[in-house]
Amino acid sequence: MRLSRLFGQMQKEAPRFAPDDGRHWLERGAFIFHHDDGSHAWLPLGECLLAKLRAYLDSALAEVNPQSAHLPWLDSPADALAKLPRGLEAMLSAHVSSYRHLPAALLHRSAETMTMLALTPSPESAVMQSAAAHDLWQQTLNHLGLLLLPGEGAPLHPGRVRIGFAPSPVGEETLTCSMCGYRAQKPWARRQKPRPQPEEPKPLTAVPTPEANTIRALADFLGVPESKTAKAVFFSTVEPKPRVVFAVVRGDMQVSEAKIARLLGVEALQPAAEEQIRAIGAVPGYASPIGVRDCIVVVDDLIPNSPNLVAGANKSGYHYINVNYGRDFQADFIADIVKAEAGDPCPRCGAPLSAEFALPVVESWPLRAEATYLSREGKEQVLGVALARVDLYAALVALAAKSREGTGLAWPRRLAPYDVHLIALRGGEDAAEELYRTLPQAGFDVLYDDRQASAGVKFAAADLVGLPWRVTVGKRSLANGGAEVKPRRGSPSIIPLGAVADFIANSG
Ligand SMILES: [Zn+2]
Repeated sequence: MRLSRLFGQMQKEAPRFAPDDGRHWLERGAFIFHHDDGSHAWLPLGECLLAKLRAYLDSALAEVNPQSAHLPWLDSPADALAKLPRGLEAMLSAHVSSYRHLPAALLHRSAETMTMLALTPSPESAVMQSAAAHDLWQQTLNHLGLLLLPGEGAPLHPGRVRIGFAPSPVGEETLTCSMCGYRAQKPWARRQKPRPQPEEPKPLTAVPTPEANTIRALADFLGVPESKTAKAVFFSTVEPKPRVVFAVVRGDMQVSEAKIARLLGVEALQPAAEEQIRAIGAVPGYASPIGVRDCIVVVDDLIPNSPNLVAGANKSGYHYINVNYGRDFQADFIADIVKAEAGDPCPRCGAPLSAEFALPVVESWPLRAEATYLSREGKEQVLGVALARVDLYAALVALAAKSREGTGLAWPRRLAPYDVHLIALRGGEDAAEELYRTLPQAGFDVLYDDRQASAGVKFAAADLVGLPWRVTVGKRSLANGGAEVKPRRGSPSIIPLGAVADFIANSG
């Protein structure tokens, strides 16, 4: 490719991105154009890079051997794919009816993702197959210099989204533990919860608590720590018809709306209106789940272990003391529904969690399917379905940050869009044209800077594009005996023109 014809200009600056952000280098090297609205375009050099990465990640899956298919339902984000999309479910019902059709693996490619769909006789084996693809992709990226750190995403039924993260200032917020390596997307992060001392349940008693309609005021008024109170938070489902969700967490913790929505299998929740709260028999500011009706009660898993709590009495100006789960109220769901924050104890080891930004690059997760097939014994069985996905844009942003070299990039050889950056300087034009003709015959892809520009401009462009070899021909190099051949991370040598291809080939 002649640089004089290539669409895309290498940039002196990329002011909207900091240099430790891979996007800075993708922008400056004319791989990607980022627009202020958050969208981006892949320029021709970027398309070459994408094609190399795709091919490399494709070859990594040789042992899983998925068949290519186009499955547009898989373009949704991982969070939206906890259940099988209807179209996919119907496709599986139509094409997988017997154990003879299993196992199977399909590979769907979108512009910026590769997603493998694993179909197996059981949910467990589907998870194993998607995990195998996940691991192979991670290893492949590791070979390119990108070490991904294991972490977790949204909870599913059962299990969680498994994620390979690349720490990056442009990623999303995660909570991590420097002691044990726990890492999770912040909305789904867990925290270790205290183990309250067991106590004998005491008699439920209503006490007057005038003006104490916040947890802080209540705890102060009764002289108890916030951890001895139960906090009520109300939401409303939107679809199919509004229902009040009554969430109960300990007074010293914050409720996570996202975790509750995920638990209930709904897209979103909204705050409940006061008349909705009153309609279930609760009194705002003095609410407890005791005696409420027609609502979904969700309690945090710490509540059943927390004896003799203070909770509202559903009567203005009154609270109950000695509220005990099981004896005084029941829940429709018991689960982890509290937010974790930096500083909270790690769910695995108890060390304080810290916040760090990271890009999810590889993800894998099981999907709940309703489609069934007939087993060898003629029994109807639920199909095992799981997904593994690699985000190519995130991978390249992270790889660009890892591939920084001085004032540019040094792409790993297997990923570089071309092998050789050929530069013609004054007096070397004819020799450069000759190399541009002969190097491809020896199997090298060449990007040829044939522009009318200074040596400084051309060397700066070569640094920004970051190809493995730079070959420069000019009056001075010819006078010294040939072309100046320089590996991206190494020193230059003068090589006779006819020996350049062999020199590069033999330098591995
Ligand atoms: Zn830990």
